Amino acid sequence: MPELCVIDQCRRTSRAVCKCCHQDLCLEHFWQHNDSIRCQLNTLKKELNDVESRFKFLDTGKSVTTFRRQMKQWRIDSYTTVDHFYDRKCQEFNRYIQAKVGDSNNDIDRLQRRINDFIDIEYGGQRDIDFIKSNINALNGKAAKLEQTPFPITISPLKIDENLIQIN
Ligand SMILES: [Zn+2]
Ligand SMILES: [Zn+2]
Repeated sequence: MPELCVIDQCRRTSRAVCKCCHQDLCLEHFWQHNDSIRCQLNTLKKELNDVESRFKFLDTGKSVTTFRRQMKQWRIDSYTTVDHFYDRKCQEFNRYIQAKVGDSNNDIDRLQRRINDFIDIEYGGQRDIDFIKSNINALNGKAAKLEQTPFPITISPLKIDENLIQIN
């Protein structure tokens, strides 16, 4: 008994075997089958061309805009952080200078009161004069030192961690 075509209700004898799906087919159904495969392949070819041109003209504009916006905000925030750091360090330096100069201002006040007292009550001998003189000399020495010696300040450049913004 000859092999029949596998298509439902087809009573013709099988004349060919499709190499892709190993079906026994009559000639008419073989050509239909062949056309159907060719048709599907043509459809896939067109779909692939479409997706190719889609990639060629891919619109990444929205992502770029979002990224730029986030980066701009990051930059503004970073500037603010640097500004606050700058202000804090300036205040710290002012306090440091005040602490260096403050003691001497107290000494000067005390010596001024002492001199005024001596003048007012006309009291005080050579020993007091020498004491005040040596104090003034010491203050002058201190002032000269503050003027001539640079303050021990270390300023390092800002290092930016590359991992702060990770693109991936
Ligand atoms: Zn087939
Ligand atoms: Zn058939």
